[in-house]
Amino acid sequence: MIDIDVVRSDFPVLQKKVYGKPLIYFDNGATTQKPLCVLDEVRKVYTDYNGNVHRGVHAMSDQTSEAYEGAREKVRSFINAAGREEVVFTSGTTGSINAIAYSFGERYINQGDEIIVSEMEHHANIVPWQILCQRKGSVLKVIPFNDRGDLNLEEYLKLLSPKTRIVAVTQVSNALGTIVPLKEIIEPAHAMGIPVLVDGAQGVQHGFADVQSLDCDFYVFSGHKIYGPTGIGVMYGKEKWLSGLPPYQGGGDMVDRVTFEKTTYNELPFKFEAGTMNYAGAIGLGRALDYVKELGRDEISDREKTLLAYATERLSSIQGLRIFGQSDRKICTISFLLDNIHQYDTGMILDKLGIAVRTGTHCAQPVMEHYGIEGTVRASLCFYNTIGEIDALGTGIEKVISMFS
Ligand code: PLP
Repeated sequence: MIDIDVVRSDFPVLQKKVYGKPLIYFDNGATTQKPLCVLDEVRKVYTDYNGNVHRGVHAMSDQTSEAYEGAREKVRSFINAAGREEVVFTSGTTGSINAIAYSFGERYINQGDEIIVSEMEHHANIVPWQILCQRKGSVLKVIPFNDRGDLNLEEYLKLLSPKTRIVAVTQVSNALGTIVPLKEIIEPAHAMGIPVLVDGAQGVQHGFADVQSLDCDFYVFSGHKIYGPTGIGVMYGKEKWLSGLPPYQGGGDMVDRVTFEKTTYNELPFKFEAGTMNYAGAIGLGRALDYVKELGRDEISDREKTLLAYATERLSSIQGLRIFGQSDRKICTISFLLDNIHQYDTGMILDKLGIAVRTGTHCAQPVMEHYGIEGTVRASLCFYNTIGEIDALGTGIEKVISMFS
């Protein structure tokens, strides 16, 4: 069982006041707060042993390289990848998807080929594929979702064709909270020899990240959404895919031998890590993953389920509040609108009450278009949130309604 008082004391920023009110942080979908152990770990890199990785023969470079490769092993173990060579560090989810779209596109995509994404993707899993389609003359196909926020899997099966080269779907919708049934996406694609990329940006921190059990071909996520530093992320790829893909950036460390006539590339995963990497971020991410493991992924998941059930009931009891995303399988994210009240007004008044929520399209404009709305208010919770905070949100929303009535 998570001891909530102990856990909250791990996160210094949660003790903060905003406009004189205790901070209630419900914007975890955008970025999560960082526990002290992660901050200490990053500080330790710079105060104890900072040296550039894989470069020097000196002790500090060795120590940093060891910690960096140790972080890679922590990621490998956390997502249950078969090997460390399958774990590439990047700047984040966006960086990872762009890298794969470029590199996979160079190797495998030609004119008329098809790429499948879903209607509930974050822009980060739409636009890189659109850029690829423009470059190669390929075609983007879209799996629709229904009004409850579930993907239409029958339509998906109809979209799969001999022309499909890759399927790229989110694990969890950032705008609706839906947990996508990935097995039902991956198995039929694999039956046709088509690889699947999973955008784990909103999934990994809620306990769903076992790439071997999912059998996905690529899995990407951002450190900052799982209690780690910003500017670091992961691009997992099965060795059979990564080994055949060309690098997407050239520079130091990703090479084996450079001459003006011909350059050969380093082995995996370094082939995809050009230049000085964010090694302090990677080491901080490793510590964040340790922290999540120490709390217990099942414990986190149980607590978040309780928070979701309570928040859904509390918010549903408010007249004039409509929730977008009613799937039976959801993470603890609630997107909503109040009748005749603009989402920005709701968000701004809640902010004055010390409650941080996100408003707008959440970088998922097609989701908003689906419902014919401009945006929503999104409360995205995680394990360090409390029932008391949900009550305060409920009371805050009622205050917003009464101010506009
Ligand atoms: N994919 C999803 C589902 C997201 O929610 C986000 C960010 O909110 C991203 C991708 C992009 O993540 P980042 O900005 O960390 O690259």
